[in-house]
Amino acid sequence: MLIKCPKCQAVYKIGDDVIKDGGLKMHCQQCDATFRAYKKDALPEDFDEEQNKKNVAKLFENATSENNTLFEDERMPAPSKIRIMPVIRYKQSINYVLILLLLFLCVAILYLARFDVVRYAPNLESIYQKFGIESVYLGQGLQFSNLSISQEDKDSVSKLKITGIINNFSKYFVDVPPVKVVLYNKNGNKILDTTHYLPIKRVMAYGRFSFEIVITNPNPEQKNVHITFANNL
Ligand SMILES: [Zn+2]
Repeated sequence: MLIKCPKCQAVYKIGDDVIKDGGLKMHCQQCDATFRAYKKDALPEDFDEEQNKKNVAKLFENATSENNTLFEDERMPAPSKIRIMPVIRYKQSINYVLILLLLFLCVAILYLARFDVVRYAPNLESIYQKFGIESVYLGQGLQFSNLSISQEDKDSVSKLKITGIINNFSKYFVDVPPVKVVLYNKNGNKILDTTHYLPIKRVMAYGRFSFEIVITNPNPEQKNVHITFANNL
């Protein structure tokens, strides 16, 4: 009898008694498809090319509407699926890897360039904060200028007034750290060590602001004043 591969239409001539009632699992040598052939699927012995086209159409009709009949081996899904699925999965996994890689790159760039990101999009700072990531420099690029110290005594209250300007020489927003003031006597001994939080918490890129720190009733021995940013607090 003549059996046609439902996938590539290759025709095989096999002995009439080879196919039992349960069908015969066949492996197409031409297209590698595996399918189960039944006696009822046999082509007529007198088949010719014209007849063949009709039979092919009929076979494919059967292949789609009676897929289970043609490929009923339970351990063997339809061959077309075997061949196509791994290819699709392979392509999809490549896409997932690419998407993951792109996501990773985006996250890495957003992290590494966070100071620039916040510089151009200040609103994004809150998103960084949600992840506990600092995106504004603390004290970096800040410098004092125009420092002056004056002391005034009024109504038996002595006030040491330190004024000056804090300049931001960087292109970023910078958070203003507390200012540490240390007073020394004439022997160079430390007589006061205080930390002052300024009312201005952040200075714009290349911005500046004036500040004033008042120390009430300082030790009259004070001779030198040392002023720095307390970045580590
Ligand atoms: Zn075939």
